[in-house]
Amino acid sequence: MQRFTDPAALQAWAQAVRARGETIGFVPTMGYLHDGHISLMHIARPQCDHLVVSIFVNPLQFGPDEDLDRYPRDESGDQARCVDAGVDVLFFPTPPTMYPDGFQTRVKAGPLASPLCGASRQGHFDGVVTVVLKLFNLVQPHVAVFGAKDYQQFQVIDAMVRDLNLPVVIQAGPIVREPDGLAMSSRNAHLTDDQRQQALCLSQGLNRCEALVADGEFDVARILAAARAFVSQQPLADIDYIELLDAEHLTPIDWLQRPAVLAFAVRFGATRLIDNRILSP
Ligand code: AMP
Repeated sequence: MQRFTDPAALQAWAQAVRARGETIGFVPTMGYLHDGHISLMHIARPQCDHLVVSIFVNPLQFGPDEDLDRYPRDESGDQARCVDAGVDVLFFPTPPTMYPDGFQTRVKAGPLASPLCGASRQGHFDGVVTVVLKLFNLVQPHVAVFGAKDYQQFQVIDAMVRDLNLPVVIQAGPIVREPDGLAMSSRNAHLTDDQRQQALCLSQGLNRCEALVADGEFDVARILAAARAFVSQQPLADIDYIELLDAEHLTPIDWLQRPAVLAFAVRFGATRLIDNRILSP
């Protein structure tokens, strides 16, 4: 596995690969890799000649009061996991090389970035699309794979790719869960035992609502009330949002008539967890 820290060196490598007519697959991450990340590498691996993984905790997508400084990191463990997953190139840039003095240009995400995490994390998605565009320009992937766990993030990136005519195919990989249902997340490492136990209310709340819909409940207010009541039973759970929005436009709905995304963001102490499920009538 080759390892790059210098953006220009990585870009030169990508240009040489493309000049030879070979293909590049890409999985961008913030590291502290778990099986959710690895599943995306397995999706990309057979589709490309060269698989690139980036590990970059992007300061631009964190607000001033967020967890940038305490975001978990494990450089050597991540490197070993990438070797095992058949990664060819690991890109490990530093903030000053990605955002040198004088850096001033941002991509501005559109209305898909307004609700959900965009409402509770101001500027977050502008930071995401800016770094993803930079990474695409450096890695020059033919295909890039993202996780359905960050549903809104995928929609926002998908819109950028379409709007800006980026020459890359993006794909979403399914949410990977712990055996008891908790969606894998690097941030799970911060949970205390009690918080970890109570965090099951996210996946179980989604299951509960899915069962309601299967039983014929299509009234969004009632589904949301059930979800909020379920999560609120856990004393350590502090709901950031629980919303059910049109799955394509992320706009409010009253009645489940077409696919919708049920999205949860719940804080346990300083740790904010998200999860989602597509519900169809
Ligand atoms: P992160 O390192 O959290 O920025 O995530 C990097 C990529 O992995 C993103 O595309 C995430 O959506 C994806 N990802 C994170 N957790 C999971 C999971 N549990 N299942 C599937 N994909 C995931």
